[in-house]
Amino acid sequence: MPRFCGKTVIITGSSNGIGRSAALLFAQEGANVTITGRNSDRLEETRQLLLKSGVSEKNINSVVADVTTASGQDQLINTTLAKFAKIDILINNAGASIPDATGATGIDQGIDIYQKTLQLNLQSVIEMTKKVKPHLIETKGEIVNISSIAGGSHAQPDFIYYSCAKSALDQFTRSSAIDLIKYGIRVNSVSPGVVATGFIGAAGLDNEAAKKFYKHMAAHKECIPAGVAGKPEDIANIILFLADRKLSSYIIGQSIVADGGSTLMMAMQFGDAM
Ligand code: NDP
Repeated sequence: MPRFCGKTVIITGSSNGIGRSAALLFAQEGANVTITGRNSDRLEETRQLLLKSGVSEKNINSVVADVTTASGQDQLINTTLAKFAKIDILINNAGASIPDATGATGIDQGIDIYQKTLQLNLQSVIEMTKKVKPHLIETKGEIVNISSIAGGSHAQPDFIYYSCAKSALDQFTRSSAIDLIKYGIRVNSVSPGVVATGFIGAAGLDNEAAKKFYKHMAAHKECIPAGVAGKPEDIANIILFLADRKLSSYIIGQSIVADGGSTLMMAMQFGDAM
């Protein structure tokens, strides 16, 4: 029997990238999945991908919604309950580094950008967690948040507000994990490094520039020692591991870093000096 057979999973941000890959893996492993995003065309691509892989229509709930709005969040939860009658797993994956349209960088970026960035990467996760809590108490469920190595201890002037949001998300993961484990709900997170998805496009680069970005990062082992940008499924497999109580039941409030070694590198490389 597939390991997520009979489980119901909401995966935010599954119209693209890591969320799409996680939705495919969960559905192939037998889960009912609620897939979602704002872009209806891309969301339909995810739905078609699942159907083509042999997943039945009855196991898919596809919802166009903005996860930063109360109505979008309610729609996700209510349609999931209407179609599948329960919620076992919440994957808080939707996220982005939102660019300032004026071209401002660093702390010159507008406070509106700060607010939108925090609303998407932090507040929507808090709101979804609060709303799904009673349903996960019933199922003794799991939450997996998708953070970023940008939330770690290195400075991130290029992604300044995004990195603040992900740092705060890491603290929310730890604290909500301890708060919710008394109900039998587990919370953990994944912190990816560079992964080739729509992320860089959403951060303001066009397709050509995004390709160059990934090529550059992979070619510089001081950036990614593994010498390759991550694939969405590299992260999706970890999401499934953390959502699988048989495999990871004793992991509570932790973040697994998957970054090809990036965070172990110091900017101060010795190079020829040695
Ligand atoms: P993508 O841009 O490929 O996917 C992001 C997803 O989030 C899309 O499905 C997008 O859907 C959705 N989304 C964005 N804003 C909203 C919103 N307001 N309401 C609903 N859905 C929204 O990027 P990734 O797959 O890479 O990103 C997934 C997660 O991984 C994010 O949390 C990101 O911060 C994190 N991450 C990614 C890294 C990378 O290098 N790729 C590195 C570290 C962390 P739509 O546009 O249809 O609304």
